[in-house]
Amino acid sequence: MNISVLKFGGSSLASATNISRVLDIVEGAAAKTPVVVVCSAISGCTDALLQIAGGDLSPLDTIRKRHHDIAARLFTGTEREQLDSRLDLLFNQMTAAPDSEKVCFGELLSTAIVEQKLRSEGWKISWVDSRELIIKGDKELTYNNIRKAIHGAHIYVAPGFICGTPDGGVSTLGRGGSDYSAALYAAALGAGSLQIWTDVPGIMTANPRQVEGARSIAAMSYSSALDMASHGAKVLYAPTVAPAMEAGIDIEILNSFNPSGKFTVISSADDVSPWVGLSSEGKCIRLTASSKADLDEGLERCVASLKEEGIAATGLSKDGGGITLEVKEAVLNQALKALHRSFFQEIPIRHIPLFIAGDGAVSKALREMIAATADTVKARTGKELVVSGLANSKSFGFSPEGSPVLDSEGDFVAAVVSRAPKGSVFVDCTDSESLYKRYQELLEAGIGIVSSNRRSFAVPYTEYAAMHAAARENGVPLRYETTVGASLPVLESIARGANSCNELLSLEAVVSCTLNRILGDYRPGQKSFAALVREAAAEGLAERDPRLDIGGRDALRKLLILSREAGIPLEEDQVEIVPVVPLTEGPLEDFYRSMESSEPIVAKQYADADAKGCRLRFVASLNKEADGSFKAGIRLSAVPPSHPAFHLRGTENAIIVRSAFHPYPLVIQGPGEGAKEAASSILNDILR
Ligand code: ADP
Ligand code: ASP
Ligand code: MG
Repeated sequence: MNISVLKFGGSSLASATNISRVLDIVEGAAAKTPVVVVCSAISGCTDALLQIAGGDLSPLDTIRKRHHDIAARLFTGTEREQLDSRLDLLFNQMTAAPDSEKVCFGELLSTAIVEQKLRSEGWKISWVDSRELIIKGDKELTYNNIRKAIHGAHIYVAPGFICGTPDGGVSTLGRGGSDYSAALYAAALGAGSLQIWTDVPGIMTANPRQVEGARSIAAMSYSSALDMASHGAKVLYAPTVAPAMEAGIDIEILNSFNPSGKFTVISSADDVSPWVGLSSEGKCIRLTASSKADLDEGLERCVASLKEEGIAATGLSKDGGGITLEVKEAVLNQALKALHRSFFQEIPIRHIPLFIAGDGAVSKALREMIAATADTVKARTGKELVVSGLANSKSFGFSPEGSPVLDSEGDFVAAVVSRAPKGSVFVDCTDSESLYKRYQELLEAGIGIVSSNRRSFAVPYTEYAAMHAAARENGVPLRYETTVGASLPVLESIARGANSCNELLSLEAVVSCTLNRILGDYRPGQKSFAALVREAAAEGLAERDPRLDIGGRDALRKLLILSREAGIPLEEDQVEIVPVVPLTEGPLEDFYRSMESSEPIVAKQYADADAKGCRLRFVASLNKEADGSFKAGIRLSAVPPSHPAFHLRGTENAIIVRSAFHPYPLVIQGPGEGAKEAASSILNDILR
């Protein structure tokens, strides 16, 4: 039959303004075909009626007023008086009705308003009583009743949700049931069109109230719509699907707040994509799949994307219609968002060309890590890192695809500047003393810099400041978190304090991995201090010349970087360094010999500390003096058990920051060295 069935939900009818929009939509449809308008109660009304039926009369005044307010906004004069008395009559009937029937009045009230408005616009209207037409459990009778009742008018107004029972009583089709009422009218009449008008642009890939990035699904199959509706997608009442499908009528879900915007058509056609949408009910999440989906692959993807958020599913199953996961209720929204990102939000991939100077242990670990994490990084950040250039101290090579061969000689930096696209990152994994002099050139070419080379930032302060200025002026990053404490978030934490003007009072850094390890192992009378240094050097733990560690040079670089990050322009000559043992110039072997002869000095310090229950640590510190200036020093200190550095293990680092905001210090402690740790820190700096 050439008739359209249009159903309007509670929020579409919630105010006079909304009802005016509904009238425009109905009149647009009525210009083409006869129309059955099925209405829900105005939003919140059914809940209020159930409350009243339960004996709590408190919502009564509010719903009465809401209906009369709508009448007052839509009508004037006698029309308004007529409607007001009709509404009053319905409210009186409702109050007098048995509690089990009170809930039916919401739809009687809303249709009274809509009917009168359409009538006053001049349409030939018939209000039909769904309580007499739709008989619960008797489809044939229902369809016959509807067919008989729909004649003689152009627009029919029918209350949704309510129905009759075979024994002549009244009942409802269940919460959300007006959608189903509309489908029954449409199926009975063989309607040309069934439209469910609601407050969202169709069925979306997730409930937009839970997932911000949810988007409308343009077309979906009956079975997928049923699957979503049965698993909590309240936008469609699940029983609605069957009558429409049996009658071969498409269901359109449209947004009454944006009638010309996006919408969904549910039909017998196949779904367009393998994954259709996410729904949730209680702690269960449903991922609806079309027949094209690979459920095993989907299960793995679900688990992986939840794992990335630190969420473990407490239940997991699949069936023909999709995948069901159970998670703790507290993490439900977070889980929905993670799954939605993974299955429905294709992030445009951004390629980041990397030009890496240095091919030592850190560079190798970094390249391995980039290869191993490529998929995860892409999924999490939308970034794809491509090692487009690589250099060692002699040669270099380029490859836009990501596997450079070191086949050229010459000036690597100049070659990078001439070919790297904007947005590229230069990674300094060297321990070069001079490469930093080229940083400015790179930054000015729009190339960001990530460096693990602490020598570059322990340069005179003016040069340090100039590098930062160049990065700022060119809007490119200059990051070097790796230079202190490898993967520990040290510089970032200190900069945060400085940025928020949290006045720094003192800073202690126990950051010499070599000395932490040696001092941890040292016991007088066992292996000598010199022997332990020799072992550490052989293991590659110390700088190539261990005098850099013993003499505090390495700690000095770290202290300069830390202080500068805190906003204090510390210079090398302001730091008082007391080496662990007297240093000698000349060949390394001579130094080892002199260290052996200094053994009593170390042993005495150890014994003195031990007698007081303290441990020896090589501490770099910066302290605010009474006059506001800062005093910096690096020396062996005896730390008591209450000191955070007392319990350091192996090559752990500790950075202790005291500031004005808090009586207790910020302590950052953990593994402070290792090629993998450095690589992960560099990777983080690149992706930040
Ligand atoms: P109406 O009153 O029009 O019947 P409902 O409140 O019953 O409207 O259904 C619409 C609501 O369904 C939306 O406001 C939205 O919060 C919710 N919803 C749940 N899942 C989905 C989904 N997948 N797509 C769109 N809306 C959804
Ligand atoms: N008014 C009813 C309810 O709130 C029916 C519906 O909205 O579809 O459940
Ligand atoms: Mg609904």
